[in-house]
Amino acid sequence: MAFDSLTVFANGRFCRYDEAKIGLMTHALHYGTGCFEGARGYWNEREQEVYFLFLREHYERLHASAKILMMSLPYSVDELIEITLELCRRNEFRENLYLRPFVYKSQEMIGVRLHDVADTFALIAMPFSSYFETDDGLKATVSAWRRIDDNTAPARAKVTGVYVNSALAKSEAILDGFDEAIMLSADGHVSEGSAENIFIVRRGELITPDVSQNILEGCTRRAVMTIARDELHLTVVERAIDRTEIFTCEELFFTGSAAGVQWVKAVDHRSIGDGTMGPITEKIHAIYEGIMRHENPKYASWLTPAYAKTRA
Ligand code: PMP
Repeated sequence: MAFDSLTVFANGRFCRYDEAKIGLMTHALHYGTGCFEGARGYWNEREQEVYFLFLREHYERLHASAKILMMSLPYSVDELIEITLELCRRNEFRENLYLRPFVYKSQEMIGVRLHDVADTFALIAMPFSSYFETDDGLKATVSAWRRIDDNTAPARAKVTGVYVNSALAKSEAILDGFDEAIMLSADGHVSEGSAENIFIVRRGELITPDVSQNILEGCTRRAVMTIARDELHLTVVERAIDRTEIFTCEELFFTGSAAGVQWVKAVDHRSIGDGTMGPITEKIHAIYEGIMRHENPKYASWLTPAYAKTRA
């Protein structure tokens, strides 16, 4: 993708992408001392509007990640939302977007530590269509790489350096002919995908690993639990999931801002259910898509419009 034409937000101002340079000795580059978010904006042709999904939740999580990394984010959640909407307007986007806010230890120096290192916030928004290339159901594999343990590095923060864990698992899966990895935690329970949370349907219940399974506490995960409880009246259980439960479940899907609600058709050569999208996954997927298209007034507060204010 060509980024050169983008306006971005860096070092406290809007500028062109190639004006925002990072020096070779930048702390975050060497030690992985940054944290970031990945959010989505959806172009609504009917309303000529970009709707950002869970913007507030993403910026609350960025603040939480920054706190864990002893960083000072110089903007409140409300200010971050305003910067995002302004960035969208300056780029005059009329398409689906991916949003990448990050705060990173920007000082150029040697010394592995968190304290007394200056940090900087930056934000990039870019056109983006879909994360997975197929709508046909994913083939997943249980990774040989274990999900990072919260006592090794923070699992519930989106820390740049920790993503080497995801990258190892994802490349292993792809190079072995699968679409996505399922990572187990150190104690052998199912944790999550390389950049998604995981859900299974077993005996009619919707089950997802609880927050003590070293998961990133996903915005999409929370939304899906709400949809399942309030719209489908399902029992939603947060608990440890054993490896062989994912071979014997009726349905399995991943959730994430980039991935959406993404169904899985097989894990390690065993088909999930009959290998087609299951009925619960299908309903959750449809409701989620309706919400992001601004067709569901009940959940309109999950969306933030970029252009509405300037037209008012
Ligand atoms: N787990 C990991 C490791 C992720 O990177 C992501 C994507 N942010 C998720 C889960 C899903 O989180 P969300 O629904 O907030 O995008």
